[in-house]
Amino acid sequence: AGLLNGDTHFLEDESTKVFARKVADHYSARTNQTLEEREASPIIHLKKLNNWIKSVLIQLYARRGDAVLDLACGKGGDLIKWDKAKIGYYVGIDIAEGSIEDCRTRYNGDAEHHQRRKKFTFPARLMCGDCYEIRLDKVLEEDAPFDICSCQFALHYSWSTEARARQALANVSALLRPGGIFIGTMPDANVIVKKLREAEGLVFGNSVYWIRFDEEFSEKKFKSSSPFGIKYKFHLEDAVDCPEWIVPFHVFKSLAEEKGSPAMDRGKEPFEMCCCFDSLIVDEHYDLELVFVKNSHVFVDEYLKKPDF
Ligand code: SAM
Repeated sequence: AGLLNGDTHFLEDESTKVFARKVADHYSARTNQTLEEREASPIIHLKKLNNWIKSVLIQLYARRGDAVLDLACGKGGDLIKWDKAKIGYYVGIDIAEGSIEDCRTRYNGDAEHHQRRKKFTFPARLMCGDCYEIRLDKVLEEDAPFDICSCQFALHYSWSTEARARQALANVSALLRPGGIFIGTMPDANVIVKKLREAEGLVFGNSVYWIRFDEEFSEKKFKSSSPFGIKYKFHLEDAVDCPEWIVPFHVFKSLAEEKGSPAMDRGKEPFEMCCCFDSLIVDEHYDLELVFVKNSHVFVDEYLKKPDF
């Protein structure tokens, strides 16, 4: 833990650094909940739905013995899902020191989890670091290549600047084996923008969440300026309260597919979408190919009907 923190340098200006720290501090401060607290959460159904979506994605793409890189792994909420998929190796990285601590405790078997399950069968390496800032190919030279790279509900934190978005993709691309799979979930920018257009001002939400865009934000800015750095504040009861960034998916897709560029609730309103990229060639270009992208409503509709899930 802390291995990557000491020599962290930021690609962009001071405000980028401040925002990344805000996100890290927010998640670091969120303590582990007991089972009772979790069940009493006002967003328990949304949490369960999100977990189900991640389980389906993992079941769809993980194979026995796979080496998995979990970018922004958080408290290790997906460890059990990976274990069920019988993976062979796991590397988890997160910017929040507190989350990595909790992840380590969970992996080693805290009292609560000990009572419920056996130890995990795969070896794991857990690290604290900024996945969108650091060149991970150097740090993980001995662990790579990975069969799967997963980034769940976290890729949008890379979209504060183009440099960070590119570093995120460069890390995925450099660490996946050819034919390896990237699976991710992030907020659906189309839904957020639609809701913003329908809203009276710059804020919208319901009893469990709200999203507030900055004062300087306007439709014009959206259309004319850079697709990076479009910031909003996201509040989700009992879960999130920090800055996030819009990820226009068509930009994300074209970046991921770039060839030849230098590397560098209630469950009612889920705006997340799931995306899945296939790594074609692993070299200094991203060269990822989109396998599928779906809004989570559509994903849930589709996969709930399938008997295997
Ligand atoms: N992936 C986990 C899951 O699905 O349970 C955690 C998701 S949580 C909504 C978002 C996570 O992204 C937090 O743990 C946060 O610390 C992490 N994160 C945000 N920015 C990051 C960065 N630059 N590098 C690494 N982790 C980051």
